[in-house]
Amino acid sequence: MSVAWNLMRLPLMVLAVSLVMGCDSSEETAEKPAEKATETAAAPAAAAVTKVDAARIINADTEPQNWLSHGRTYSEQRYSPLDKINAGNVSQLGLAWFYDMPERRGIEATPLVIDGRMYTTSAWSVVYALDAKTGKELWTYDPEAPKSVGSVACCDVVNRGVAAWGDKVYVGTIDGRLVALDAYSGKVAWDVNTVDPERPYTITGAPRVIKGNVIIGNGGAELGVRGYITAYNAETGKQAWRFYTVPGNPADGFEDKAQELAAKTWTGEWWKIGGGGTVWDSMAYDPDLDLLYIGVGNGSPWNRDVRSPEGGDNLFLSSIVALKGETGEYVWHYQTTPGDTWDYTATQHIMLLDLDIDGKPRKLLVQAPKNGFFYVIDRTTGELISAEKYVPVSWAEKVDLATGRPVETANARYPDPDKPQFTVPSAFGGHNWHPMAFSPKTGLVYLPAQEIPMIYGKDKTFEYKPGFWNLGIDFALTSLPEDPAEAAKLLPLLKGRLLAWDPVKNAQAFVVEHPGPWNGGILATAGDLLFQGTPGGEFAAYNAADGTKLWSSQAQTGVVSGPVTYEVDGEQYVTVTVGWGTAFSLVAAGATQTPISRVLTYKLGGTEKLPPVDVAAADFPEPPALTGTTEQIAHGRQLYLTRCFQCHGDAAMAGGVLPDLRKLSPESHAAWDDFVLKDQMHDMGMPKFASILTPEDSAAIQHYVIKRAHDTRPAEVKQ
Ligand code: CA
Repeated sequence: MSVAWNLMRLPLMVLAVSLVMGCDSSEETAEKPAEKATETAAAPAAAAVTKVDAARIINADTEPQNWLSHGRTYSEQRYSPLDKINAGNVSQLGLAWFYDMPERRGIEATPLVIDGRMYTTSAWSVVYALDAKTGKELWTYDPEAPKSVGSVACCDVVNRGVAAWGDKVYVGTIDGRLVALDAYSGKVAWDVNTVDPERPYTITGAPRVIKGNVIIGNGGAELGVRGYITAYNAETGKQAWRFYTVPGNPADGFEDKAQELAAKTWTGEWWKIGGGGTVWDSMAYDPDLDLLYIGVGNGSPWNRDVRSPEGGDNLFLSSIVALKGETGEYVWHYQTTPGDTWDYTATQHIMLLDLDIDGKPRKLLVQAPKNGFFYVIDRTTGELISAEKYVPVSWAEKVDLATGRPVETANARYPDPDKPQFTVPSAFGGHNWHPMAFSPKTGLVYLPAQEIPMIYGKDKTFEYKPGFWNLGIDFALTSLPEDPAEAAKLLPLLKGRLLAWDPVKNAQAFVVEHPGPWNGGILATAGDLLFQGTPGGEFAAYNAADGTKLWSSQAQTGVVSGPVTYEVDGEQYVTVTVGWGTAFSLVAAGATQTPISRVLTYKLGGTEKLPPVDVAAADFPEPPALTGTTEQIAHGRQLYLTRCFQCHGDAAMAGGVLPDLRKLSPESHAAWDDFVLKDQMHDMGMPKFASILTPEDSAAIQHYVIKRAHDTRPAEVKQ
């Protein structure tokens, strides 16, 4: 069988704006001539800033007009008690206002709304404060991450939103900083670096704040880092604690007992590449138990044979880990994919539920990680209660409830270098970062589920290259077939759906099929509604009881973020951030969308209209003459599918975010080596390929791109 697509997390390039200066970290910066936060001329119209604290987040249901924390509550249920917009009147929903953000890259942010003020983010970790009633800009803040960091951002330079505490909001930046901003003015209160700048770390996740500490993890496991999560004092930025998710070199001593425990499950010299295990998205908190739950990601490299040659579970990769909220000390873990070798991760949404199981009230934690199983776990002890497949799964038959371990299928670990393994789910996951939601009225969890297969095969010539992708997997095996007819045959394999799941029975309740995968996060409301978008640009409301579509609108661009709802002056609004980009869009061949980055807000009877989209005809200049030999083109294809597709698209067909190399102008082709070998695009986010590619390699990649241009240029643009 031929192949499919793959993965998660990518480098990039980009243009984009911005001004201003360095990274001062104190209030004194107010006197600098160019302040980083730009306040708009008129005074803010929204209500005064009120202080957020633990009691407010814990009692969030007493102020349903607000959305105080990433998942609305510490339990991360993304359920709103608001019901003025409901199944009976949602057909009257219309656009109330929209706000355009200049950074035209992936948009994944969940906005916060606090007393009439909205705080959200765009690509490049830029923060926006808006009047939640009108969309009027109150201030913006650009952390000015150097664009070159794009070269180590695996999955687009996205950001999933801010946290709020006291009178501040907090953003993790793509270059690894955590920045506290005055919520009223956007001025920097403090700015701390959370990572080793010599290593390819990034931050895309939203911070959470518990017990007066701002908690933030990081990403970078596709390239090679050691994962950890850190707590910083919300007032001062001083580090309170740090928990490492994989052990370092035992010869250096262990930071804590958990590292000693984890080190027994590793072999070889994993610390040299870093081991991986980044905490790049999910967290949840139980204030009664004082337990912070974190989702830990895949290994560096993905392929365990490279990472830990004698095997082992490789704790705490692909695990849910419970830490003491006060101190960050290890309490328990549950590993969803022992010895992960597929990039399955356990970084997906962690949700806390209190439900009866077998007639007994239980404190539960649920997760649907990439590996295809829906896990129901006792969050006090970490005991596995049930695990069932929520999408087709080929790597494991089941999870043995007695041991808590998966029963793997034969050859699931692609042991034979000459026999790559067709596998579901892929590294894109049966479910990825897109938020789930829960409705206490239906008792159902709603998740964006998907089917994207992938062929896994060993990289027979793997060699660690610091600062580049290091997976130990050969992507030339997984690429889309270049014959359009063959590629078209694979499209039916790609599926996506809104999946309603009963967490007590651990079984499907109903599904709403979407046109394809990579669908948006979900919001559930007391109005018996679910809201969800699609990468095709539809933003819709469904009946939470049965999935009937009740309302739909066109966003003009991809909708993959988690929506929120709130009230101002007694009127209910629904907001979603939209834009084109994110991991799948960069890789997915030819799946283009208009790159518009916006905040869209709806209300009953809203009459605002989006401006018309500029539908310029696709520009596909005539490519240079095809002069490469068969051998050169084959060599170029291998290199392209190792080093280039992560940003410029599978089979040299970009997804509309970064340049489609088939469509380069003659001038760009003439300057090819300047881009590839002279690092001229590094400031825009392109890796420094001069260190790993020869002039012959560069020419071979160009021959391959030219071949693809000749093969795929539409007949209608040919003269
Ligand atoms: Ca990953």
